[in-house]
Amino acid sequence: MLFFFTEKFYSTFFCIFVANMKNLPFFAQNLAKWYQISQRDLPWRNIKDPYKIWVSEIILQQTQVKQGLDYYNRFIARFPDVKSLAEAEEQEVLLHWQGLGYYSRARNLHFAAKTILQEHNGVFPKNYQAVKNLKGIGEYTAAAITSFAWNMPYPVVDGNVFRFLARLLAIDEPIDTGKGKKIFTQLAGNLMDKSNAGQFNQAMIEFGALQCTPTTPDCPICPFADHCLALALNAVANYPVKRNKTQTKNLYLYYFHIQDVFYTYIKKRTEKGIWQNLFEFPLIESSTPLNFNELSQKEVFQSWFPKNAQFKLVVENKKHILSHRIIYATFYAVTCPDACKSIARNDLTKIPVDSIGQYPVHRLMQYYLEL
Ligand code: SF4
Repeated sequence: MLFFFTEKFYSTFFCIFVANMKNLPFFAQNLAKWYQISQRDLPWRNIKDPYKIWVSEIILQQTQVKQGLDYYNRFIARFPDVKSLAEAEEQEVLLHWQGLGYYSRARNLHFAAKTILQEHNGVFPKNYQAVKNLKGIGEYTAAAITSFAWNMPYPVVDGNVFRFLARLLAIDEPIDTGKGKKIFTQLAGNLMDKSNAGQFNQAMIEFGALQCTPTTPDCPICPFADHCLALALNAVANYPVKRNKTQTKNLYLYYFHIQDVFYTYIKKRTEKGIWQNLFEFPLIESSTPLNFNELSQKEVFQSWFPKNAQFKLVVENKKHILSHRIIYATFYAVTCPDACKSIARNDLTKIPVDSIGQYPVHRLMQYYLEL
């Protein structure tokens, strides 16, 4: 029947459908049935500890479940509760996050754990607004924590849920606008089985992650196939709609691994950004590619290295993609006839070669160190 919809008719249909959505109990029932059979066995499932739910949600924000699992287990083993996390040194927290990327997540977790310890006597606040006030926790994470831990009826709308709902109802409203977010959140709230909010939210996310996937949704065996407008319109690939395609910029990083027999030199990244407080080799950054000759003309290069230093190209243009940047990293090994003794700069920290593992480093540094 849905194949006969014209676009004009569709928008009218959509309004009626949304308005009547709460009269469609089959949705929540079908979803619950699917979830019971299909859900993955994950350590943060079926638990009620808000701290562990919080940690898992923060890890999963920018990380696939497969990669996040080991990190979650290691993190929880070392920091099993709010107190242990709040009392840890930031450097140790970052070391446990090393390789996951988006390190502000770890810094915010640490900061918020301290807030809970100081302002809530170490007890996770059982209140949506108080949870949302914690650093690094937005609407989505607050809804996830409060619904998973205490069954509070806040809809959780992540990329999986956006995609599933956008396709199910062929919603043309872009998901990356304030208006779009409001519509989808309302819709998820209307569909929600309020008596079982936590499980409903988890099932919605899982459905998008396993069934209604970005590129290969399993429509032939989908329990909603008979009601899915995008499928009926043969337009599954057109949903969800996005207004702003993220602008990505190229960034070229040139690292210098100084090999002073027993020592090397690192630098703490203090400026605001995703790698804040992580350590890296001396670096020259550029928005355009630079050849070695151009690098050696740089003032900072000349201030670091004596004229007789020797440079060996080890890694060239290693690509690393972030949400808003494409990074190309090049690493040079630096040796000097006098063991680089003349490198004694305040902006660099001299460390014994075998102690580098004690310093949290970002993904690219980790890649180089594991070569
Ligand atoms: S039929 Fe396909 S596109 Fe529609 S909800 Fe199911 S999996 Fe997603």
